[in-house]
Amino acid sequence: MALDELYREVILDHFEHPRNKGKLEPHEVFEHGSNPLCGDKLDLYMNFDSEGKVKDVKFEGSGCSISQSSISMLTEAIMGKSYDEINKIIADFKLMMTGNQPNPFAENEELEDLAALEGVKKYPVRVKCALLGWNTLAEALNKKFSHS
Ligand code: ZN
Repeated sequence: MALDELYREVILDHFEHPRNKGKLEPHEVFEHGSNPLCGDKLDLYMNFDSEGKVKDVKFEGSGCSISQSSISMLTEAIMGKSYDEINKIIADFKLMMTGNQPNPFAENEELEDLAALEGVKKYPVRVKCALLGWNTLAEALNKKFSHS
């Protein structure tokens, strides 16, 4: 199977079988994100443990397969992670979507699903779809950590 095709299947799998979808009640942090260009919407719910690591994360949303598969992958990628670890993943993801360096997730077994979205950067309009969840996550982290 060609890599493109494999990546398409990973994206489709997350779109059709989203991970961690639903409402998280009670939740400590909530953030809404939208991408009016495409009509993508999502709500992100997070809880943290006493060490500031992600204890639980869920999302609700609607929109295109890129936006919804990206947020599904995101929830898996950040579960159990600390603020610093998450910021590294966000930075790597943004680099992958905007830069020309080797895919930062291709050799990372734990985060390899994220590598599937690299192909989206060939379609600049869709990059906003792929980044929606990550920008929403960054806002959510701000709420939680900027004042503590
Ligand atoms: Zn979209």
